[in-house]
Amino acid sequence: MATAAEPLERVKERIDLIANGKARAEVEAGDAKLIDVREPHEWDEAHLEGAVHVPQGELLDHIGEVAPHRAERIVLYCRTDNRSSRAADALQDLGYDNVSVMRGGIVGWQEAGFPVIAPEGLSPEQRMRYSRHTLLPEVGDEGQDRLLNSKVLLIGAGRLGAPSALSLAAAGVGTLGIVDDDVVDETNLQRQVIHTTDRVGMPKTASARASIEALNPDVNVVEHRTRLDADNILDIIADYDVLVDGADNFPTRYLLNDASVRLQKPVVSASILAFDGQISTFVPYEGPCYRCLYPVPPPPEMAPSCGAAGVLGVMAGIMGLLQANEVIKLVAGIGEPLIGRLLLYDSLGTRFTELKVNRDPDCPICGDAAPEIDESEMGKFPDYEAFCAGTPVLR
Ligand SMILES: [Zn+2]
Repeated sequence: MATAAEPLERVKERIDLIANGKARAEVEAGDAKLIDVREPHEWDEAHLEGAVHVPQGELLDHIGEVAPHRAERIVLYCRTDNRSSRAADALQDLGYDNVSVMRGGIVGWQEAGFPVIAPEGLSPEQRMRYSRHTLLPEVGDEGQDRLLNSKVLLIGAGRLGAPSALSLAAAGVGTLGIVDDDVVDETNLQRQVIHTTDRVGMPKTASARASIEALNPDVNVVEHRTRLDADNILDIIADYDVLVDGADNFPTRYLLNDASVRLQKPVVSASILAFDGQISTFVPYEGPCYRCLYPVPPPPEMAPSCGAAGVLGVMAGIMGLLQANEVIKLVAGIGEPLIGRLLLYDSLGTRFTELKVNRDPDCPICGDAAPEIDESEMGKFPDYEAFCAGTPVLR
């Protein structure tokens, strides 16, 4: 009689281990009942065609239903052939006398190049990594597959881009582009959690890439070590599905708006200052654009981004993660994006306020009578040249 403590080698001496080619021939000919004795998550990742799934721990309780006759021909398999050997031994003790184990299990089967049934899209490693996503019916395999096939561009690897990049990478966004021409500075580290102390002086795109690749090898990082301008923006954003605006200055925000409306790319836009943050999602022609909301920027002396200003470090995390949340919803096609809504957050009072924002029919960019503007005019607004000229910006 077998015991759980008996060495496997001794158990295997009593078992008929057969080659996977022979097992395959028997099963395909309908001569044998094939039973997979692994755990449910292993079965879900991949299993053999024609197999019945009965986890090892439940086999003795259910074998009567699966194989009512003890003379029936049975082939068991597991990941290699250890669990299935113990299971076969237990069946033999019950009187099943025509039981074999497939040598090498499903691992050997796959190494031999034989086919398995696996859910389309996700690899076994991905099914494991994203299982807490796929368990959500709203996301499921399909939503995760969309995330893995999506391309998201982050404008800035700084205060808002840093936290949103980490969360989007963890979520399995397949391609993350990052636009930034700056290097990591010591004063960034209070809020830009994607960068580390030992990377001060390193280009932010390279530092972000290092963190993302360490977190999730599924993500393809594309570095755009440049500053967006009217000459390069259309080429850079054309490849992406969703744009994440964490720009630190108004000229870039207007430029991004005008180019994204032209190419009909959704933009998740947020900003933070001191203890306050705001966020909205601009989907061209479905809701307002940035210019519908802010036809002109505030005067330079009032524009907080034009000077070194204070900000509570966690505000970057809170608003950056709200941006990541919007991106995931847009990509997976779930929930209600912040289209036509401006969400304000006051961290000192811990209060959210939502304002409704409408499309401006006279908007110079997305309005009904908006003229075609020349590419060199994109992003321009009154006093554009003077705006922020020569003043340092908060990153
Ligand atoms: Zn507009």
